[in-house]
Amino acid sequence: MRDQFTCQNKRCNIVTTELEIDHRLAVEAGGSDDDINCRCLCSDCHSVKSRIESKGHKLPDPEDFPTDYAEARRLVAYQMSDPSLVDDIPDPEFD
Ligand SMILES: [Zn+2]
Repeated sequence: MRDQFTCQNKRCNIVTTELEIDHRLAVEAGGSDDDINCRCLCSDCHSVKSRIESKGHKLPDPEDFPTDYAEARRLVAYQMSDPSLVDDIPDPEFD
């Protein structure tokens, strides 16, 4: 298997046989099935990324993103200066 069974999120890098193929640029956004657009993520990272993308947003750095969905959304909200993104995250620390 490609990527040596390692999750390609640099903040994760977990080694597992349970990897999923992720499209760096989502197919719906025009991404291709070519190797260069594909990489392996563990299921946790893949679901975080997919949930962000399902909201119509991209993670600022898809090579290095939080493994936690709430933190990922805070990061996107911060980068996009769009606090409405974090509305459904119960975290009083977000400013
Ligand atoms: Zn991972």
